[in-house]
Amino acid sequence: MRWPRISRRRWGWSEASSPPDPARDRARMVAEQLEARGISDPDVLQAFRIVPRHTFVDGDEPYGDHAMPVGSGQTISQPYVVGRMTQLGRPRGGWDGARTLEIGTGSGYQAAILSELGADVTSMERHESLAKDARQRLHDAGYDNVEIVVGDGTEGWPAGSPYRSILVTAGGPSVPQPLLEQLDPDGGRLVMPVGGREHQLLTLVERNGDELRSTELEPVVFVPLIGRYGLRGD
Ligand code: SAH
Repeated sequence: MRWPRISRRRWGWSEASSPPDPARDRARMVAEQLEARGISDPDVLQAFRIVPRHTFVDGDEPYGDHAMPVGSGQTISQPYVVGRMTQLGRPRGGWDGARTLEIGTGSGYQAAILSELGADVTSMERHESLAKDARQRLHDAGYDNVEIVVGDGTEGWPAGSPYRSILVTAGGPSVPQPLLEQLDPDGGRLVMPVGGREHQLLTLVERNGDELRSTELEPVVFVPLIGRYGLRGD
């Protein structure tokens, strides 16, 4: 049978104001911002298709190709950078059940991506108010297995170590020594923006026994990592 042709307009949606469709926005974000720029890990791409970024960030364009404010003067990175760090930090043997430490909870979005991948996540945040909001957002999005700790992440969280993966989502002059000590000697991977306050180089550290191999990658801009083994600030 032939269906009558009903124009979109008849239903009140013009092309410019189609109804909100976060799943469609995420599919587009994954194709245009992640895949097109070389993020190829299928598990990472799938996690980005699922995690509701709009639950974690405020504003008109939660799936836009840019960083966004998350409160207390902090920002969440653009989706591509979150994807890049996640892909780089993938533990040998995969994410499933892997002990993972994030420094800089911010909105909780990166932690949600890691949780969606199956990681066993502890995330540290120095601002109590951000930690509180992130806990709520993670709960709202259904990620109740993420542990959020308020404290100075440059000291790490020895109770949960060793970590298969550590992602530091704030920039500092060097990788804090405690984090290197808490990295799994059996192939643990750490990703951190290392450099000055204005810009840093995304850096990957791989640990095998007492041997640390460090690789400097592309330039990035992150908010400062403030703490005992990081920068000074308030
Ligand atoms: N990963 C976050 C964005 C991080 S922004 C997200 O997905 O939204 C960087 C965060 O690091 C900020 O919230 C800042 O308060 C926090 N931070 C900076 N120094 C820190 C430290 N020493 N310990 C814990 N958190 C820190």
